[in-house]
Parts: sequence; C-alpha cells; structure tokens
Amino acid sequence: MRKMSAEKALLMLVILTLGLLLFSDFLLEKRLVIEPGVAYRTELDSDVQDGGNTVTEWVDQEKLHWRCHLGQAYDYPFCGMQIYFSDDYMRGVDLSNYTHFNLSISYKGEAQSLRVFFRNSNPAYTKPNEMRSTKFNMVELDANKGPNYSAVKFDYFRVADWWVLLYAPEMELLRAEFNNVGLIEIQTGSGLKGGGTHEFQLHRLELVGVYFAMENFYLGIILVWLGAILIYLAYRIWSLSLAVKHGKLKQVELTEINSLLDQRAKTLEEKSKLDPLTGAYNRVGIEESLTDAFHRWKYEGKAFSLLLFDVDYFKNINDTHGHATGDLVLREITNLVSSNIRSEDRFARWGGEEFIIVCSNTELSRAVEMAEKLRRLIDNTLFANSLNVTVSIGAAQIHQGETLEGLFNRTDAALYAAKGAGRNRVSLG
Ligand code: GH3
Ligand code: MG
Ligand code: MG
Repeated sequence: MRKMSAEKALLMLVILTLGLLLFSDFLLEKRLVIEPGVAYRTELDSDVQDGGNTVTEWVDQEKLHWRCHLGQAYDYPFCGMQIYFSDDYMRGVDLSNYTHFNLSISYKGEAQSLRVFFRNSNPAYTKPNEMRSTKFNMVELDANKGPNYSAVKFDYFRVADWWVLLYAPEMELLRAEFNNVGLIEIQTGSGLKGGGTHEFQLHRLELVGVYFAMENFYLGIILVWLGAILIYLAYRIWSLSLAVKHGKLKQVELTEINSLLDQRAKTLEEKSKLDPLTGAYNRVGIEESLTDAFHRWKYEGKAFSLLLFDVDYFKNINDTHGHATGDLVLREITNLVSSNIRSEDRFARWGGEEFIIVCSNTELSRAVEMAEKLRRLIDNTLFANSLNVTVSIGAAQIHQGETLEGLFNRTDAALYAAKGAGRNRVSLG
C-alpha cells in the first residue's frame, strides 16, 4: 500500500460517510406491503364465536372488499377481516423494526372509528388452540378521517383492556409488542350497537420501518472509522519502523564500506611508499623523513646529516651474473643496511643501485662513522654468487642557510668524489 492510496481510501471513506449520513433515512428505510389474498391468507371474523349473530360476507373475489350486518345477540358486536402471516398464529413475523403503517381503506357505515389489531404471540401468555390469547395490540382510527391513514405510529398502539383482564400478564408485558405478529385484523370500532351495516374496501396496507435503529447505524459508522484509523496507524507504525530499520542497516553498511575503503587507502598509501624490489622505502616514502629532519634542524636546531651511497661497478654484476643476481644483491644490501642502522635513521632506495640514509639529529662526524661502518660491513660480506660488492658513500651535514636541495647536491657531489677517488670509500660534502 502506497501513501497515496491510503489518502484515497480516506477520502472515499469520508464521501461514503457523508452519503450514508445524508441518505440515511432513505437507506435505512424498509417497507412491507401487505397484499391480502395474494401472499397472505385472509379470513372474515365476527362476534359469532362469542355468541353473536353478526353476518359477514365478501363482496369481491380478491377478498379486499367485505360487508357485515351487526347482530343484536352479543353486547359488543363487531366484524372484521384478518390477514395471517402464516398458518400457525403462534409463528408470526418480527415487526419490531417497523415504526409505522400507511393504510388506505374505504368505509361505509355509522361507526365513528375503525380498529386495527396487530396480534402478537409469546409463550408467556399465548396458549395453543386459544387464538384469543394472542396479545391484542390495538390502535383505533377516526372513521371520518379516511380513507387514507398515513404514518400511524406503532407507538400509538395499546393493549386491549379486556385482553389484559383475561390474560393478566406480567407488568413488563403490558405494553404493545410486535416481535412475533401472527395476524393483522381490521375491525369495526368499539361502542357499536347491533343493527347497522358496515362496508369496507381495503386498498393498501404498508408497514414502514428501519433495517436497524439509528443509534446502531451511527455506532456502526463510528466503529468503521475507528477501525480505519487503527489500521492506518498500525500501517504507519509498521512502515516507519521498517524505514528506520532500513536506514540503520544502510548506515551500518556505509560505515563498513567506509572503514574498508579507509583501510584500502592506507594499504595503498603504504605500498606506494615502498620499493617493490627491495621492500625499502622509495623516494615518496623518504620524502616525509627528509622534510621532518629539515624542519627539526630549522626550527629546533637539531643537526641533520645525509648519506648517499651507490654500488660500485654494478653494471658489471648484471653483465657477468645476470640481472636476477643483480636484483638479489640489491635486496641483500637492503637487508644488511636496514639491520645495521639506528632506529631513528631512515633508509630508502633512491633509484637504480643508489640508496639514501636520512640521519636526523646527527652531527656529520657521527654520520661519517656510520657510513664507514656500513662501507666496511658491505665490503666484508659475501653476496649472492659469492660476490664481493663495495659501495661509495657521500656524507654531508646541512649548513646554515642551506636548502634541502643544496644539502642533497652537496652529498651527491661527495658521492661522486668518492667514486672519483677510487670507490669503496666515504667522502665528506
Ligand atoms: P659505478 O661504479 O660508476 O657506479 O658503475 P656502475 O656500473 O655501478 O654504474 P652505472 O650507472 O653505469 O650502472 C648502473 C647499473 O645498474 C645500470 C643498470 O642496468 C643497473 N640497474 C639499475 N637498476 C637496476 C635494477 O633494479 N636491477 C638490476 N639488476 N640492475 C639495475
Ligand atoms: Mg654504481
Ligand atoms: Mg649509479
């Protein structure tokens, strides 16, 4: 899920909520049209079973139109029509989610009112084979206000007094109930005397209600919103923690790469300072020692001497014993010199068969002693192929006001002087 789509989902939810709120009446409303004779069984009813002699008859085939003549035999004569929801009046329908009904009925007769009963069954008071024990939820309509009675609220219903007397239910059962209505009955009104003729024609009976109560509807919307917010928050927390984790991993990776590169750079730097053949420092490697010694002399007044030496007749060695032997000799000279100088001296291969030793904090006399010692050592050593090798050495100490280049040139000149004087010797610059 992308951030965009979460926002889109939110927008859609807002629109949906607005729609639900605006059209809630329409959306929640449910209607039940009672069509007698088609979906439901219809019967005529009268006071005959109470000992009366009222005569009732259907006027039409569809059983929507009926007529009766009230008899004198019963004190409370009545007639009416019953619409059954099932064959068994104990098994009715739950109408508790309906709030009102619309009734269209034409009436001719002297009655001032019509009665509508919704007869409810409940094991607490309804007995099998005693239809009268169904609760008589009743509303009495003004006969002069017909034929259309719209929005007659279920709240207007009350329970017939005679029924309460006969079946005396618990107090909490006294109010009208609609959760198991077995039949609906439309009757002549109360207070009639016998003798009159009454004619009814039913046009339409419609129950109107809601699929579920408004408060449940709002509660549902709130719950959906809470759920959506919860899901969104959980998603945000999850994606943020993932991003943090990812960022941390990246940082660790970068640090590792950095230190690896650092190490590599250091190794390369070290390597670049070394001469690959002998392993001694090369020109780059010795440069720092040269400037160091120069600065210490210049700013701290420490003596600074330089030795340059060159292998005598090296070309002959190459020519006579081969280049490989020449290489070996260069390596052996490097090892010998390296292990016979002081730790503070810096030794490097300057190029070819020429070497340099930086003697910082060293007077010329001491440098010459060292040079002489090394010259003798080399002279007295047998190299590869039992070769006798000698070196010529130039030595010089820096002068007041001299540059590094000046010192170098003087040392080089001393080396040349040593060569010129017959080689295998130390000359002072
Ligand atoms: P001199 O006493 O005047 O120094 O004589 P030389 O023969 O040593 O001097 P020259 O400069 O004529 O010869 C130096 C020789 O060193 C030339 C070159 O072939 C050889 N050389 C330089 N670098 C290397 C190297 O890395 N390995 C080998 N085997 N020979 C090298
Ligand atoms: Mg040489
Ligand atoms: Mg040379």
